[in-house]
Amino acid sequence: MMITGIREEVIHLLLTLGKENHPREFATLLVEEDGIICEVNLLPGTIGGETSATILTDMIPLGISYAGSAHSHPNGVLRPSSADISFFKRTGRCHLIVGYPYLEDCYRCFRNDGTEQNIEVFS
Ligand SMILES: [Zn+2]
Repeated sequence: MMITGIREEVIHLLLTLGKENHPREFATLLVEEDGIICEVNLLPGTIGGETSATILTDMIPLGISYAGSAHSHPNGVLRPSSADISFFKRTGRCHLIVGYPYLEDCYRCFRNDGTEQNIEVFS
């Protein structure tokens, strides 16, 4: 299923998680329903430092498919790193990065190859 949108609450939650964990990074997985990202799935042990994305990959239960992932960049750079892109390929199709200072528009959405994707926000 194509991911076409995201619920506004999910974006707010991701920005809040970014703020709460700052200056550490957080990472989570995204759950979709009918092509709309509607929920985050926080796995135990995913809150950490620079390597949180790597830890997260090991935590994904087999047989569960996720819409994508979200993580924070405490340095405020709203672009995926090369490590992020290799992680994206293993965790779904739609990936959000939220960044410092975690304001309303401090997020971007990316495809598996790291290109930016526009996503519709549903309130
Ligand atoms: Zn990153």
